[in-house]
Amino acid sequence: MNLHSTKKLANGAEMPYLGLGVYKMTDRDETLEAIETALDLGYRAIDTAALYYNEEEVGEAIRHSSVPREDLFVTTKVWNSDQGYDNTLRAFETSLKKLDMDYVDLYLTHWSVEHKYVDTYRAIERLYDEKLIRVTGVSNHHEHHLKTILATCNVAPMVNQIEAHPYLTQEPLRAFCEQQQIAVTAWSPLGRGKVLNDETIIRIADEYNVSPAQIILRWHLQNDVIIIPKSVTASRIKENSELYHFELTNETMQQLNALNRNERFGQNPDNFKFDF
Ligand code: NAD
Repeated sequence: MNLHSTKKLANGAEMPYLGLGVYKMTDRDETLEAIETALDLGYRAIDTAALYYNEEEVGEAIRHSSVPREDLFVTTKVWNSDQGYDNTLRAFETSLKKLDMDYVDLYLTHWSVEHKYVDTYRAIERLYDEKLIRVTGVSNHHEHHLKTILATCNVAPMVNQIEAHPYLTQEPLRAFCEQQQIAVTAWSPLGRGKVLNDETIIRIADEYNVSPAQIILRWHLQNDVIIIPKSVTASRIKENSELYHFELTNETMQQLNALNRNERFGQNPDNFKFDF
């Protein structure tokens, strides 16, 4: 594995294993700079969403970079208040305009809004048929949500982006996704930074002579999970991309798997308060 490694998705498209998450990047200059730093370091994927209010900056940073658009993998998401078939198509058009792009690589249902997420995904399938997106996917979908979609869709979701970190390892959902050829992306791969002070992780980091963040990110990769860590700090963006000069042993992987507490830092898709 190296910085340019990609996962082959169900339709053959290649998705980078590492991307930059840009949630809560609201300062324009800071966002442009963080993306520029990441692209210079070799990141080739950016994870944004309508909710993050920075699709314009993402598009601008990409246009100003020397990396050709076709070498990049851009993900955005339809927000909860825009779900349903027609609304999703409209929301996509708005996102595409803000990004100022001809297509998006991956479009996701942001959360599994009850009574709407199936129609939202139908709209995503249409965007795929129209070649406005290269890959279809969802986010924050439990196994039962996926099964509902799989029962009626023509094109199965190719990606599920879920909260995952050492305190929420998501083993059953990951196993189901693997069985269905749905790639898993971890959001909050570092547990929003809250897992970095874990004693076991710090001990393992000392053992491998790398940082706790690098241990966690490498653990995700060895579990075949795509990662989108967020940082605006150049040194951290760099650190989060230096994951390929070491490998965790099976024993270390087991120790990290054992940290699971099913603890969420975000909301549970089954009782998300969809009104914010
Ligand atoms: P994260 O786990 O990436 O943690 C980010 C925090 O860790 C930041 O405070 C950052 O300063 C700190 N950090 C990053 N690298 C570090 C390092 N090397 N050393 C020490 N601290 C470090 O959390 P996140 O931002 O919540 O998630 C990442 C991305 O996932 C988001 O930016 C977004 O793109 C996506 N996301 C998606 C959803 C969803 O519902 N689909 C929800 C939340 C986040």
